[in-house]
Amino acid sequence: ITDKLAALPPNTNYFSLEFFPPKTQAGSSNLQARLIRMSQALRPLFVTVTWGAGGSTATKSLELAEICQRQLGLTTCMHLTCTNMSRALVDEALEEAKALGIRNILALRGDPPRSEEYHMDGQENSNKDFTWAVDLVRYIRKVHSDYFCIGVAGYPEGHADDSHPEHQSVERDLPYLVEKVKAGGDFIMTQLTYDIEAYTRYEDTLRSHPSGIFTSIPLIPGLMPIQSYQIVKRITNLSHARIPAEMFSRIEAVKSDDEAVKRVGVDILSELVEGIKALPQPKSLPRGFHFYTLNLEKSVAFILERCKLIPSSTEPTTPSTSDSESEIAI
Ligand code: FAD
Repeated sequence: ITDKLAALPPNTNYFSLEFFPPKTQAGSSNLQARLIRMSQALRPLFVTVTWGAGGSTATKSLELAEICQRQLGLTTCMHLTCTNMSRALVDEALEEAKALGIRNILALRGDPPRSEEYHMDGQENSNKDFTWAVDLVRYIRKVHSDYFCIGVAGYPEGHADDSHPEHQSVERDLPYLVEKVKAGGDFIMTQLTYDIEAYTRYEDTLRSHPSGIFTSIPLIPGLMPIQSYQIVKRITNLSHARIPAEMFSRIEAVKSDDEAVKRVGVDILSELVEGIKALPQPKSLPRGFHFYTLNLEKSVAFILERCKLIPSSTEPTTPSTSDSESEIAI
């Protein structure tokens, strides 16, 4: 990914797309067809494939990563979590990724196990190898040197989880982000956000950090197209992303009409992209956007088209309107 970024012309914008492995065979076939269309029509700089915490989706994640990298020739970044994962499982995942030609890993902790051991309060920790994402970053660098380009997670609105009794503010999380980058993180991909003010503050904080470590690192904001009123409420609850009041009232005004929610969602996301495009950016760095697609095609295609993020090609880029998006369970 960093090689591809370095090769982009100055002032270029780019985007990436996230997919997760479907649970069923029908879902997989559906997604495969969709991936073919999306890769041809939208031409993302790279795609990412999620990983179930504890390795719960290991086989399916690797299968999807294989389709993306090998069959479709897409630059693929495989997410890899480390909590609740034995060293043997991590080794296996990295070796398999390598065998598939995957050169990019998003190194994550994953959701912590729901037990006291995680608080390190004197009890035995069942996973001695990996506690935090930084442990995984260090391990990948130790075992695989520079073979993998490594991404790490950032949280523009702070981070909340079971390992901290209170919401972890950006400021409290920052020293750990510094550690992840020092340990070998090549780029930062963020938790989804709808709050341009919070995102702007986050970029400012990172770019002006006294360590200088974030001055020119690629920082890729995570954005999730709005697929329905229910999904947006659930996702923002889970991720603790705030929806600004004005934005929320626009969605609420049409909440009983799914198609209208999607249309308003495309407007909102397009405004967000344009707002982020207008932020100051280090000269040498292209501006990137990461879309959590939920394996769906249309909204992201409309946003990309509206914001002129689709790289030019002789191929037509009109989003497909013929498929039924409800067939993939999310
Ligand atoms: P860490 O960087 O380890 O941080 C976790 C928390 O612990 C933070 O609050 C941090 O401040 C704190 N912390 C870090 N180090 C220390 C330390 N040494 N001492 C005390 N506190 C510390 N989850 C999945 O299961 N699968 C996925 O595919 C997936 N993809 C994701 C993609 C992105 C872009 C993002 C942003 C998140 C993703 N997640 C995924 C969720 C992620 O696993 C959770 O948010 C997890 O709780 C934290 O992961 P992390 O890598 O940020 O952990």
